[in-house]
Amino acid sequence: MRGTGTEPVDLFIIGGGINGCGIARDAAGRGLRVTLAEMGDLAQATSSASTKLFHGGLRYLEYFEFRLVREALEERETLLVAMPHISWPMRFVLPWQPEMRFAGDTPTARILGRLMPWMKGRRPAWLIRLALETYDRLGGRRILPPARPVDLTKDPAGAPLKPRFTRGWEYSDCWVEDSRLVVLNARDAERRGATILTRTEVVSAERQGDLWRVTTEGREGRREHLARALVNAGGPWVARIIREKLHLPTRENVRLVRGSHMVTRRLFDHDRCYFFQGKDGRIIFAIPYETDFTLIGTTDQDHRGAPDEARCTPEEQDYLCAFASDYFARPVTRDDIVWTYSGVRPLHDDGAHSATAATRDYVLSIDRQGAPLLNVFGGKITTYRRLAESAMTKLAPFFPEAGGSWTAGVALPGGDFPWDGASALAEGLLRDFPFLTDRWAMRLVRAYGTDARNLLGLARNALDLGQDFGATLTEAEVRWLMRHEYALRAEDVVWRRSKLGLRMSAEEIAALDGWMRDVSGAAGAQAAGLAGAS
Ligand SMILES: Cc1cc2nc3c(=O)[nH]c(=O)nc-3n(C[C@H](O)[C@H](O)[C@H](O)COP(=O)(O)OP(=O)(O)OC[C@H]3O[C@@H](n4cnc5c(N)ncnc54)[C@H](O)[C@@H]3O)c2cc1C
Repeated sequence: MRGTGTEPVDLFIIGGGINGCGIARDAAGRGLRVTLAEMGDLAQATSSASTKLFHGGLRYLEYFEFRLVREALEERETLLVAMPHISWPMRFVLPWQPEMRFAGDTPTARILGRLMPWMKGRRPAWLIRLALETYDRLGGRRILPPARPVDLTKDPAGAPLKPRFTRGWEYSDCWVEDSRLVVLNARDAERRGATILTRTEVVSAERQGDLWRVTTEGREGRREHLARALVNAGGPWVARIIREKLHLPTRENVRLVRGSHMVTRRLFDHDRCYFFQGKDGRIIFAIPYETDFTLIGTTDQDHRGAPDEARCTPEEQDYLCAFASDYFARPVTRDDIVWTYSGVRPLHDDGAHSATAATRDYVLSIDRQGAPLLNVFGGKITTYRRLAESAMTKLAPFFPEAGGSWTAGVALPGGDFPWDGASALAEGLLRDFPFLTDRWAMRLVRAYGTDARNLLGLARNALDLGQDFGATLTEAEVRWLMRHEYALRAEDVVWRRSKLGLRMSAEEIAALDGWMRDVSGAAGAQAAGLAGAS
């Protein structure tokens, strides 16, 4: 196989989060030979634990992060058009009250503190209006509607809130299914020639002549790979990989900042999100989630443990409940919580004194002491495509034969339909597969887009889709996920390829896991048998 033994690949990528998979897709599409190794499941770490927004980040304007905000805002619509199944526009309602304060360390807070000391750190309404106008102008909107004031005494968005919230604004950003984004990038990279190895850890890598020799341990045992360049997209592990796997000195560091979310029963009946500002200068979102739930987050805590030990602590749950209860008329309590998740932001350490203030921008550092090594620090889901382009620009001198930028405007698998065409696609499915329910059809469209038809094949009734694992998950879908989307265990299916874990019982998930282990065991034995026979 390419990349093993004597035939080197061009790029070996460590890490199957959004940055690793985005770079793999971009590089493969430029004609480079690529291998990517992910030690667990794709998107198992930070890239499945985000707030799931393609956004500029309204609050970063207070830190004067104009480059980052502009790049992210411009990306929203480029990405929306390329993946209208897993991304869609959202409106955010920002209720205003005079007590909202800045985090004390933002440049805006410092300037206002000098010019308007009587405000004592409070955010004036005119400043929020100015920020929203800037947000609208910076991003070059073509599809998303602009910000507008909202009278919360009349608008349905005011109904679930405390009566003291009488005015606010509404603005646009986009939703994205983060873990599906990662998998679809990996799938597209593979379609363009890349090799994607999951549950395969890079245990060491060293320079050998003008190549990298990379050692992996995984499902196929211990293997050696040769590559002309190495990309370290290890997310929260990036610095650890440099020190412990590559044994190289580095002055770069990551700041690990934990962010936790909680999912509650549905707290309101409309389809808009809330942007709540706290008295501590922080903000949280409350977002309609998976039809029957509300997603609330996030927190910002420096994280000391291993990246994969991040959990939403009871203190974080209480913090999020109290924050949301300042706004909702009916208090949010721990009894409302049905699920929590937590991830670690791998931020480039810029020496900021608080976790909230640390930059969300990305830094790509290239080490040219022999075969090139590119380390990826920080980044956002929203800027992954631009990050991949920048990574390729940094690597371009080593690969003069590589093609130019190409990913803007090219659909991800299943995304070849208009940005507002999901309902029409679901109607088509209901017509041709009348046994589907409305919700089931829309779930398939939102996950697979135009591929939903390929998944359903020639089925004339639900029985044709094989075993029913619960919550409309069928054998046909699981087989699709195992064949095309690298799923191997039930948790890959119910928490990352979908969120059906919110609806399935522990027994149903265990039965699915047993079934998947049997199928992958049988497939492995068959492959071994065939290999032995050849
Ligand atoms: C709480 C929270 C909310 C966020 N919300 C948003 C948002 O709404 N919008 C937005 O744009 N961004 C958001 N972000 C930022 C975004 O999620 C991250 O920037 C992005 O997911 C980082 O991706 P990554 O590929 O660098 O890291 P990861 O997704 O962590 O991927 C790194 C991968 O490397 C693998 N790996 C590590 N070591 C090895 C090894 N030795 N061998 C093989 N594999 C290895 C890991 O298993 C992991 O899967 C949020 C982040 C957090 C934490």
